[in-house]
Amino acid sequence: LEGGLKAVVSRNGRYPAIDGAYCPKCGHRRRVDIEHRHVDPTAELWHMVCRECLSTAIVVVYVSPSGKDVAILWSVHGGLSTANTPTSVVYYLDQAARADSVGARSAAVAMYRAAVEQLLYEQGYQTGMLNRKITELEAHQTNGGGPAWVHDLDPEFLRVLKDLGNGSIHPNGGDITRQAALDADLIVDVRATVEMLLELVYEEPKRKTQLKARLRASADVVS
Ligand SMILES: [Zn+2]
Repeated sequence: LEGGLKAVVSRNGRYPAIDGAYCPKCGHRRRVDIEHRHVDPTAELWHMVCRECLSTAIVVVYVSPSGKDVAILWSVHGGLSTANTPTSVVYYLDQAARADSVGARSAAVAMYRAAVEQLLYEQGYQTGMLNRKITELEAHQTNGGGPAWVHDLDPEFLRVLKDLGNGSIHPNGGDITRQAALDADLIVDVRATVEMLLELVYEEPKRKTQLKARLRASADVVS
């Protein structure tokens, strides 16, 4: 299989994928099973199931204008979103994932940038364009303001997502060959960065709050 999906060879036609795939329902990379459905010289069709939540996807290996490529079409919404990602951010992540799943990588990068801007807006950075929002966040790192997670983030991650997103939609002097930089490997890195942000902003604080509440409840019993 192309496109980052690696499977071990199986005798019975079912293949457990080695490093899994991102499941939009679980909001995490999961072990998945894939099964051959159809193969001919120009295309392969696979059926994929998340081992955790049993969500299904159709995986198509096809010949794109730039060679062999893979499209993953999930039966559920979500893209990269996690359990506590707000719907306003989920919308752009879903758009990014759909563009990504058919190899429209410039479009996907533009939507990942939009998701990050929406995340900052939702977290209280509501003035100006993305650059202004990041500058405001950096000021909070200096003066101790803003949400707690701000102080655990290297703002360069936001700047680079902004620059990639801008580069994906700006005219670049009419030179579209520069868009080739937005390749499959880059998308894997962009996804990992967005995943890290969602974890930092929406999941980690929630887990810490729940852990504290459990500890406190037990402490109250014994003290
Ligand atoms: Zn799942």
